[in-house]
Amino acid sequence: MFSSGVTRELTWVITTLWLLLFFCWLTDWWVESLIAYLVLYIFRQLWSMRKFEKWIEGGTVKAFPPASGFWSQLTYLVSRKQRALEKHADLQLYKSEQFKSASMLIPDAIVSLDQENHIEWFNASSAKILELRRQDVGRKIEGLIRQPEFIHYLKDEQYQDTLTIHSLQGVQRTFSVRVIPYFDSHKLLIVKDITELYNLAQIRRDFIANASHELRTPLTVLKGYLEAMIDTPGEHQKMWAPALQNMQNQSDRMQAIIEDLLTLSKMESETFSSEVEVVDVPAMLTRLRVEVEQLSQGQHQFSFHIDQDLKLKGYAEPLKSVFMNLVSNAVRYTPEQGRIEVRWFSDSDGAHFEVEDNGIGIAKEHIPRLTERFYRVDTARSRATGGTGLGLAIVKHVLERHQATLHVDSLIGRGSIFSCNFPVQRVVHQRSDSAL
Ligand code: ADP
Repeated sequence: MFSSGVTRELTWVITTLWLLLFFCWLTDWWVESLIAYLVLYIFRQLWSMRKFEKWIEGGTVKAFPPASGFWSQLTYLVSRKQRALEKHADLQLYKSEQFKSASMLIPDAIVSLDQENHIEWFNASSAKILELRRQDVGRKIEGLIRQPEFIHYLKDEQYQDTLTIHSLQGVQRTFSVRVIPYFDSHKLLIVKDITELYNLAQIRRDFIANASHELRTPLTVLKGYLEAMIDTPGEHQKMWAPALQNMQNQSDRMQAIIEDLLTLSKMESETFSSEVEVVDVPAMLTRLRVEVEQLSQGQHQFSFHIDQDLKLKGYAEPLKSVFMNLVSNAVRYTPEQGRIEVRWFSDSDGAHFEVEDNGIGIAKEHIPRLTERFYRVDTARSRATGGTGLGLAIVKHVLERHQATLHVDSLIGRGSIFSCNFPVQRVVHQRSDSAL
């Protein structure tokens, strides 16, 4: 019923009371003895309390206070709890030391930063890659890594992105920089040397760009001769007309693939250097409407809902290819009499370009892969309608250049909605010249 501390105290009280009664019976000093007993008992409690208080304040677990009964049990329980806590703290310390020693072996630079970007600790590789020294702990990272791109990246706080820089602390190598926020506004800065990986990717990019460029001229010559043969009347026409036509179609397809590969290489290139301008998207979409209506040859119903005052800070030619790719896809993957709606509008999240069709739709499992190069859901249909399999890869890269995202919503047999979402900082509200 009682805790063991209380039981101990009760046993002590009952035993001493028995002794007291025996003493009173012998001496007949009942009142005096009882008063003396009570005074002594209270004094004993106060003395034990004082000892206990001192013991707790002193914080030493080993030296127990000279107490008995309830107080000795309490002392024992508190010291047991304290020992368990210390054991836990030792374990935590061991774990954190273990983590630190492991992170010391990681070849990437890892730096822990506080809320104001002061360095808290760093691993051994940080000394090599970022040239950090012991005495830099407590200093602001911006004062030690002064690369403008890095300072901008830290300030921008868009930590879901990775920064790629080509020199760090005077070393001309390629590094990927990543900041991961953790625990109460702290940050982990991770810098990885990706020179070899980057060079390999660059070799691949250069190869595709060079091969496409080299193929362009011979193909133009072949196409020229083919056109001449098709246009020249003569005996050969009877026998070769279908073959010549087929050759012309195939060379058109090759040309489209080469042009798309070149556009993709340009978009991927680090040296992509078009000037950002205020693109008159409404005017661009008016011209595009004429082109897609020709492509559709009257087989689809179009409706365009365009905010005439909404323009965009960006790159005109690449944006045109995004809009054209999405609307021409809607034409190519929507059967005759289908509806295609094009919307250009803005809201508090930014500007949005949407193309909705009620065409064949796309099964859910294909959607995440649509922007991969040469990924097609139905290769035969794509080829038959003049597709290269590169349209949505181009869309993705151009949108990345504009910090924009592509969102695809589709149901098989019901249709699709492709939405391009541009960030607020790219939006320009300006009356079109035609609207003035
Ligand atoms: P393609 O030249 O083959 O059209 P894209 O990269 O433009 O290549 O598109 C990739 C694939 O996505 C297409 O092959 C097609 O299967 C699918 N797709 C794209 N747009 C649509 C759409 N509006 N409706 C249905 N499927 C589409």
